[in-house]
Amino acid sequence: MRPESQIFLTHVPSQHNQAIKKPIYLSSTYEFADAEQGRQISATAYGLADASGYFYARMSHPNAEEFEQRLSILDASEAALAFETGMAAITTTLLCFLEAGSCILCSHESYSGAYSFITKQLPRFGITVLEFYPHHTQAQIEAIIKESGQEKNLKLIYFETPTNPNNSLVDLEMMANIAQKYGAISVVDNTYLGPCFQKPAQHHVDLSVYSATKYLGGHSDIVAGAVSGRAELIKKIRLLRHSLGNIANPFSSWLLCRSTETLHLRMERAAENAVKVAFFLNHHPAVRKVYFLGDIEPTHPTYAIFKKQCTAAGAMLAFDLKNEAQVPIFLDKLRLMKQAVSLGGTESLATQPYHTTHAGWSPEAKAEINITPAMVRISVGIEHSDDLIADLGQALSL
Ligand code: PLP
Repeated sequence: MRPESQIFLTHVPSQHNQAIKKPIYLSSTYEFADAEQGRQISATAYGLADASGYFYARMSHPNAEEFEQRLSILDASEAALAFETGMAAITTTLLCFLEAGSCILCSHESYSGAYSFITKQLPRFGITVLEFYPHHTQAQIEAIIKESGQEKNLKLIYFETPTNPNNSLVDLEMMANIAQKYGAISVVDNTYLGPCFQKPAQHHVDLSVYSATKYLGGHSDIVAGAVSGRAELIKKIRLLRHSLGNIANPFSSWLLCRSTETLHLRMERAAENAVKVAFFLNHHPAVRKVYFLGDIEPTHPTYAIFKKQCTAAGAMLAFDLKNEAQVPIFLDKLRLMKQAVSLGGTESLATQPYHTTHAGWSPEAKAEINITPAMVRISVGIEHSDDLIADLGQALSL
């Protein structure tokens, strides 16, 4: 059965008063069937046993658990966990596998919140941070590790693919290979394409982290996060989630479950729209360059990576205007598309990364990855493509 059908089997109406949709469980605590079950479930919460059942809503609850089952089905992974935010999923995962004296290798082109946590907070706890760029080869990355003298301490490799906002790709299998070679855990931020168009577990990456605020939530009405991957690692992260207390609440989890049912419809429609929007932009005289995965030339080295690990180009694209002074004018003229950060919702959003998502970066750091004031990023939504193109057309008639 296809994952998008299989997720419907996670809810059994006869176990919930015949309700077609699972109710929201607002209970903070759960009754034990008997003293022995209470003993087993409590021991499980501390990692000392392996019983199923609920205990206390900070540990788990039926709504989070249903979303977790659905995400692991959609992501072809062994297990998943729901978090209050994407950053909670990322920081809990990193803290779970790093300690004083250990080393993390991180992609310079990671989501700025994750990058800032890794480079500014982790060193405070005695953790060494190494960096690589998406264009680096395996040999170059291994040279970085070797030169640092941290081979033995390398515990985790963290990266994002495709990158925000310029859609660079990192080879999932190559990163999984490097991690295995050094006995480290590989963690990828799969927010942009996953779980619909990219399933890192199938490429041997240990864990995928998500801002479920984006496509998984998909309606710009939830802030949430998730991690999905190997069961033995998920088990360890779950125990830290108990301590940090950052499980997704029942209502957010319920909204996430609702959203899983339309994930493919939304992502496929948005991806179809993005192909048409990219075509329009590529042929517009005011546009200098479009950054879209669907436009990679078959002769470009990343084309093979795209074909290997992505089943579609997704719906995130960026473009440079020839005249950067016209970017604010263009943005202010948009009527259907809204000016906002975030992405992956039903509505199309446009923003100028230089002054919004990457406002905290130095001009040199931005220039290094092609983020100039001429760039606009668009999260293409599920509106009718004709209307999106008409809106872009009128806003570009400067
Ligand atoms: N990863 C990516 C790619 C993101 O874009 C974001 C947020 O914008 C995050 C992680 C962090 O997620 P959240 O805002 O849900 O904490």
